[in-house]
Amino acid sequence: MRACVSRLGLVGLVGLAATLCAAIEPSHAGPLPSFLDADENEGSENAAPQANSATEPATGEGYGEEGPPVRVAIHRDDGPTLIKSPGGQGLRIAVINTAGEHGEIVGFSPTTLTLTPTARGVTISGLSGEFTGITLDSATGQATLNGKLYATPLEIIRDPIAGGTVVVTEVPLERYLRGVVGHEMVPTWTLEALKSQAVAARTFALSQRLSTEANFYHVEATVISQVYGGEGRIADNVARAVDETRGEVLAYENQPIIAYFFANCVGETSAPEDVFGKPLPYLAPASCDTGERAPKASWKVTVSHVELDRAFAKAGLARGAVTDIDVAARRGSRPTLMRVESKKGGSVTVPPTRLRQALGFTRIPSNDFKVDVSRKGATFTGRGFGHGVGLCQWCAKGMAERGDTHAEILRHFYPGATLVKMY
Ligand SMILES: [Zn+2]
Repeated sequence: MRACVSRLGLVGLVGLAATLCAAIEPSHAGPLPSFLDADENEGSENAAPQANSATEPATGEGYGEEGPPVRVAIHRDDGPTLIKSPGGQGLRIAVINTAGEHGEIVGFSPTTLTLTPTARGVTISGLSGEFTGITLDSATGQATLNGKLYATPLEIIRDPIAGGTVVVTEVPLERYLRGVVGHEMVPTWTLEALKSQAVAARTFALSQRLSTEANFYHVEATVISQVYGGEGRIADNVARAVDETRGEVLAYENQPIIAYFFANCVGETSAPEDVFGKPLPYLAPASCDTGERAPKASWKVTVSHVELDRAFAKAGLARGAVTDIDVAARRGSRPTLMRVESKKGGSVTVPPTRLRQALGFTRIPSNDFKVDVSRKGATFTGRGFGHGVGLCQWCAKGMAERGDTHAEILRHFYPGATLVKMY
């Protein structure tokens, strides 16, 4: 479950971690399987549809060359978290203790620190007491967590809702994107495809930043938002894609749009109302003819009756044995409503994404499927990968290979949005 905690300032600033934010409902949760060959990276679908309530204009006044700061939750753990100083020069520790005293510099640590969540806060190896918030600084400007480099300072709190430790890094948007684009799209793909991904990721981060302004962080480093791999080495084409689109954002009515993207549609993207329940004026289904060659372009998953009945009962889709599942409505080639029949629950009609959610977003790769219920269980036969809304990465790849520019690709998938230079 996503943590939902308030912004905790750096040393000596705002108060303790009280819950402030509104419910944040990712439209899918958990990691996605690799949709590519083993030597390629993971694709993902971003999610977290959120109200974009803030009023910051998309003009970007006051932003420097590197854009506004983005706060990224890079790690959460119920157990101990190990943080290292890569330069071997030690980490400076400042704390906010559980008595609410802020900003006390408690000195320099050895090169490795272990943080452990407790019932009320977080403890630090080598120091007595428990702390509500901790700020770690490194002489090199970076620290290592789970083998990845991140910019310091790192801020750490105990998650007041889910428990465990949350670690947050704050980086300027352009620097953040250098750690995103190559994890969301294959770095060897054509430059214009990578550039379209850079703009989508920049826009998505900005919309999240606006809608989560009061929270402890803006985005997760996982597919719940978009994948952030930290500050390691990146491919030249990824750096170029970010640099050559610096400050470029998709806007609608002077606001950054929620720039959804996903791996592969194989035919046509979805209308947002069919997946997230409400239309978005800048999105409409777009055709696509290049995804058939992608790994997992078509798939088949059989779910046993035991698992099906249990999962659908838990999700409120059925009672007792599930007897039939059928497509009840379509838009274009994609199903928009599925009918689930069960012995005690009668007939229930829901969008296909509800079935996907009930069985697991990793188990059922997309919302574009038909179902055959037999003695063996329910066999889902489908195509594509991801929620289907917004930019299709495999289509973007195909369009770029045919010579389309990133602006043309973005216009195809976000027809109601305008590409603007924000800074
Ligand atoms: Zn596609």
